[in-house]
Parts: sequence; C-alpha cells; structure tokens
Amino acid sequence: MLEGIKLPEAVESIFYILNKNGYEAYIVGGAVRNSIIELPVHDWDICTNALPEDVCKLFRSKGFRVVETGLQHGTVTVMVNYRGYEITTYRTDGKYTDSRHPDSVKFVGSIYEDLARRDFTMNAIAYNDDDGLIDPFNGLKDIENKIIRCVGTPVDRFTEDPLRIMRAVRFAAQLGFHIENYTNIAMVQTNDGLSKISAERIQSELCKILISDHPEYVLDYYIDISPAIPELSKMMGCSQNNMYHIYDVWNHTRFALTACRIHELETRLAILLHDIGKSESKTVDKGIEHFYGHAVKSAEITESLLRRLRFSNEIRKSVVELVASHDMTIVPKPNKVKKYLNKLGEAQFRRLLDLRFCDIMAHNPYYAKERLWETFKTEEILNEVLAEEKCFSIKDLAINGKDIMELGVKEGPDVGKWLKYALDEVINDRLDNDKEDILNDIDAKLYAEREEDNDEEMS
Ligand code: ATP
Ligand code: MG
Repeated sequence: MLEGIKLPEAVESIFYILNKNGYEAYIVGGAVRNSIIELPVHDWDICTNALPEDVCKLFRSKGFRVVETGLQHGTVTVMVNYRGYEITTYRTDGKYTDSRHPDSVKFVGSIYEDLARRDFTMNAIAYNDDDGLIDPFNGLKDIENKIIRCVGTPVDRFTEDPLRIMRAVRFAAQLGFHIENYTNIAMVQTNDGLSKISAERIQSELCKILISDHPEYVLDYYIDISPAIPELSKMMGCSQNNMYHIYDVWNHTRFALTACRIHELETRLAILLHDIGKSESKTVDKGIEHFYGHAVKSAEITESLLRRLRFSNEIRKSVVELVASHDMTIVPKPNKVKKYLNKLGEAQFRRLLDLRFCDIMAHNPYYAKERLWETFKTEEILNEVLAEEKCFSIKDLAINGKDIMELGVKEGPDVGKWLKYALDEVINDRLDNDKEDILNDIDAKLYAEREEDNDEEMS
C-alpha cells in the first residue's frame, strides 16, 4: 500500500498558501499516477476549489508571477523558481463540438465531480498529505493490475472526446499497461470520431506512442485508431513473396519497430513508413514478388502523410530523406563513409544506419547476416572517421575559396567546382588534407587547363 507521495517543496508552498486562505488543494492526473508507479513526474498539476481569478489575486498578492494560461478553462500557472505549476479549478466539461476543447466548462465545488470528468481511472486520483488518495473510481487497483479503464461509460466518454482513444493507446505504449476489454470495444465502436480530431492533437499522441517502449502499438492497436492514420492500411496484407522476406509488409514493419532501441522520433517515423509504398510498387515475375522503386513511392506517401499531420518542415524532410534512402547501397569503406557523411551529416547518417539495422532485423534471417555485418562495419568506420577528425565536407578542407581565387580563379561557380574537386581527392585519399599539397595540385591542373586552351587558340 502506498505510504504517501513526496511532494516537491514548491507544491507544498502552493498547498500551504491555498489552505491558509480556506481553499482545498490536491495534486491530480499524471503526477499522482506516475508517483504511484514510481516513474518521473513531468508536471505537478494541482486542482483546487478556488476560482481562477481568486488564485491569480492570491498568488500575485504574495509576490508570485502568475500566467493566465487558460482562464476560461479554469487554469492559471504560478511560477515558483522559474518553473510553472498549473492550478486548475474543479470543473466539469460541457460538450466537445470541435473535438478539441469542451465548448464550456462549469466550475464545481467538489473534487469528486472534477475527477469524474477525467479520462481513465488511473488519471482520476487526487492526493494531498492530509486526505491521502482520493480514488473514487478504484484507479489505484487498476494501476496495480496495469489496466487502462474509462471513468464512467466508455462509449459516452469516447464520443465526448475521441482523442481519448489515441490517449488510451499512448498510455498503454508508455506504461506497458493493457486496455480493459469494454474500454477497448468502445474504442473500436466510436473511433469514426477520430477523423474529426485536429491534426496537431493526433500528431502529438502518435509521437508519444512512437518514442515509447512500445512503438509497435501503433500497429497492434490499429483496430482502435485507424481513422486517425488511414494511410497505414496500405501495408495491411501486402505479401512479399521473395527470398529476403518471411513476413508481409505489416508484420515486417512491426518487427522492425520492436528492434529499435533508440527512442528517437525521426528514426521511428522512418521505420514505420519505410515500406508504406510497397503495395503500390509490387510486380510479380514467375511467382516472385518485386518492389522496384518502392523507396521513392514510400517517400511520396510519407511526405503527404507528415504534411497532413502538420509535422515541422525539419522533421518531415529528415524522415522523407530516410525513407527515400532506406535501401540505398551502403559500402563499408572509409571513402564511401566520408561521402555519405558529406551528403547526410552525422545525425542523419546514424539514423539511416539505425533504420537499416531495424529493417534487416525483420528480414529473412538466412540472408540477413551479411547485410547486418555491413551495417555494423559501416558504423565502426563512421566512428573511426569522426574520431580521427577526417575530412568529409568542404568546410573541413585545409583550403577555402579565397585560396583558390589567389591561384587566379575568378569568383563564381569555378571556385565551388575546385573545392568539390579537392574534397573528392581528399575523401578518396588521393590527396592529404594539407593546404600546400592541395593548392599545388590545383595549380598544376589549372596550368594544364591553360596550356590546353592556348593550344586550341593556336590551332
Ligand atoms: P503526461 O505524463 O503525458 O503529462 P498526464 O496524465 O498528465 O500524462 P495530460 O495530458 O497532461 O496527461 O493531462 C493531465 C490530466 O488531465 C490527465 O491525467 C487526465 O486526468 C486529464 N485529461 C487530459 N486530457 C484529457 C481528456 N482528453 N479527457 C479527459 N481527461 C483528460
Ligand atoms: Mg501532464
């Protein structure tokens, strides 16, 4: 049985001030849930029967900075030592016509009414040192049994706010909990509502699922969340009848996701989407299925999916590039590695290698050995190249554009051409990255060019 929750000093001070002025105060939601599970708490959300204006006045009068974060929803943020603590007035929610925010909220007098509007029993527990846990929906028991269960009638709760369907899957993925049967059935029954949810809210939950310990839940719970990401259905039932594969595209992708140890969004989005274009690129020759050009097709679908879900340009470009390059030939040789580094940059090249590793781990094991070895070898060379600070981009060269112009090359595209030439020679170990060596070589080449031009003019 839980002994009590150790509250941070800032929360204790906030409780003290509210209590001293005759108000109730509890921590709620994720703070209570994660404290019980002994996971780190990100936000210490507080709820109270004080009205938002009174919270503002009270804390301002004590010299705190107060931000009116969402007055109409009853939330104000009190800053303590540069950290914000959200204080929300007990409330019940009205209808959700825009599937985004409740149309109206009604402030209420009791913590029990406030807990009843919350999504899952594990999120509907309040705590303070005086009263201990306030747990009207047996959330503690559900946490102990690792169960996600709706507060109230599931169909009503998911119809009210369909995003809760994505939240259920997200919490399952983050916590390793399972979804209680009636809750799950209601999710499937009501999931049409997800198509009305804003792209930003879907994106946020999808990202949390993908960077969790169970990114594969995005596929395992697809029956619940399909209207949020209908594009993924392209992978369903797409066979891959050739010697490299033992799974269809759906299961191959699922295994690739489970192989990923790096909790990094771009890599995991790329794993999820790397083969999404396969069903549209399939050809069959003597019973063997081929997927020529599937990386390009997958990249096109990825581009439009990530645009629809309003991912940032930076994330979209990175993931599209990874998907488009996921099956390019990677040769484990230093000069090649330097070229890839120059083209992709270190972070993106490492993501590509992680993607490649996960992709191969979900291939036919008989043919995977050689390709896995190539991936490891490439990573080893990459680490060596970086450790030895070898040159792989123009900015690492021992010369710059000014040096080239001093050899008599006019400012303009020719300077870039010679820098590229120098980089190519250095990457391929035909020249050392040494200023004198490079300039001597270019000078000799320029001399030869001029001689050739003169000969042409004479003839
Ligand atoms: P996290 O660790 O991800 O922040 P959390 O449980 O704190 O998890 P939040 O989205 O911060 O999740 O929400 C705080 C609390 O507000 C939840 O625990 C839950 O009680 C309630 N809540 C949030 N969103 C909803 C919703 N869509 N429907 C009902 N209750 C919600
Ligand atoms: Mg939270």
